[in-house]
Amino acid sequence: MSTPSTPRLAVVGGGPAGLMAAEAAIAAGVDVDLYDRMGSVGRKLLIAGKGGLNLTHSELREAFVTRYGARRDAAARWLDVFDADALRAWARGLGIETFVGTSGRVFPSDLKAAPLLRGWVRRLRAEGVRFHVQHAWKGWDGDALLFTAPAGEVRVMPDAAVFALGGASWPVLGSDGTWAAPFEAAGVDVATLAPSNCGFDVEWSPFLREHHAGAPIKPVVATFTAPDGTRLTRQGEFVLSAYGIEGSLVYALSAALRDTIEARGHATLELDLTPQRDQAALIRDLSRPRGKRSRSEHLRRATGLDAAKIALLHEVLPRDAFDDAHRVAAAIKALPLVLRSARPVAEAISSAGGVRLEGLDDTLMLRARPGSFVAGEMLDWEAPTGGYLLTACFATGLIAGRAAAAWLRARG
Ligand SMILES: Cc1cc2nc3c(=O)[nH]c(=O)nc-3n(C[C@H](O)[C@H](O)[C@H](O)COP(=O)(O)OP(=O)(O)OC[C@H]3O[C@@H](n4cnc5c(N)ncnc54)[C@H](O)[C@@H]3O)c2cc1C
Repeated sequence: MSTPSTPRLAVVGGGPAGLMAAEAAIAAGVDVDLYDRMGSVGRKLLIAGKGGLNLTHSELREAFVTRYGARRDAAARWLDVFDADALRAWARGLGIETFVGTSGRVFPSDLKAAPLLRGWVRRLRAEGVRFHVQHAWKGWDGDALLFTAPAGEVRVMPDAAVFALGGASWPVLGSDGTWAAPFEAAGVDVATLAPSNCGFDVEWSPFLREHHAGAPIKPVVATFTAPDGTRLTRQGEFVLSAYGIEGSLVYALSAALRDTIEARGHATLELDLTPQRDQAALIRDLSRPRGKRSRSEHLRRATGLDAAKIALLHEVLPRDAFDDAHRVAAAIKALPLVLRSARPVAEAISSAGGVRLEGLDDTLMLRARPGSFVAGEMLDWEAPTGGYLLTACFATGLIAGRAAAAWLRARG
């Protein structure tokens, strides 16, 4: 039971980061009110469940932390507090067993988010967290938090606050990044929110757009050479879409591709369309007499390429080059695909940018606003898909919730 002297924490945002902060703070004896603008919490987590809910990854820690790129040192500190094993144990505490898939990714055994979210919210309520949905945070008025709620404006004066308002992807699920304006007005340094794990625009011919949009390209190896000479190579698959390319392989390279497009106006991805066959074998088979077979039938038989991959070749090679086995083989092994722009952040799986870590102390408290903590995707870090996003959101939520409770206790 709360007493008039129990410190009150407002958690603003009810995604995985905010829910974790609420759980940590209430366990530390703090009164917790959680606010979310939507009619229910955890909507993005629920949508992640449609893809099986990739909670975390089983790879070794040394590899795990590299997924956070420039933020690997900060991520290492977060994982010291809550890593993949801790996450799996925590899920087990909610009655959700997990398993490691063939790719090393970790999923709940039923591949669903709803049972986990339902059980979690039930437990938080039982522990005393008060939920205030349909409360959209608008900013600060002095020390007070201002919300718009169905009954009008609500002013709240907590003793401390954890902000976990998410990034700017899929705004229909609640996170639209509009928190950036009041944060900047309060003197907080915010890096512009940008698409991460996103698709890219390619200037397709009308033929490809009409006949091959939706086709998977697999298996394929994609190599990107960044302007500083760093070569990134990934094997996997992606999908041709009406606007360009999307899918896991593209997402894995998206940060470097996005940054290069921003700096240079375009980025060139090199595709190996036949990872299992080398160039010499392709030249040999393409050089065989084609007899009565049409040119396209000969190409298909000699290379084993499917229709979508052949359409990709046609996007790059001029028509007369198709009689030259060496040119065709070279293009198949290193097809240059020019990407023109990243898709908008609203369509991306996640966003880069956010509250810069330099404006926070190690407990994730804002230097510009003592007593205000920040967690989850609204922080300035990014990672590829593979469970790295949720892991960092859970970890930072836990750190911010615990730290807020400790800060309140220290102030008496
Ligand atoms: C389709 C899809 C699939 C995904 N699949 C995976 C996956 O399998 N594995 C993985 O690791 N990651 C996945 N992600 C990413 C992952 O879901 C997010 O990184 C994670 O949910 C971010 O957690 P968060 O708590 O920081 O923010 P969010 O989950 O975005 O939660 C923020 C909350 O704040 C609320 N809010 C925002 N603004 C306001 C405001 N002004 N006032 C009040 N409330 C507000 C929102 O309503 C929301 O409930 C996926 C994302 C998408 C879009």
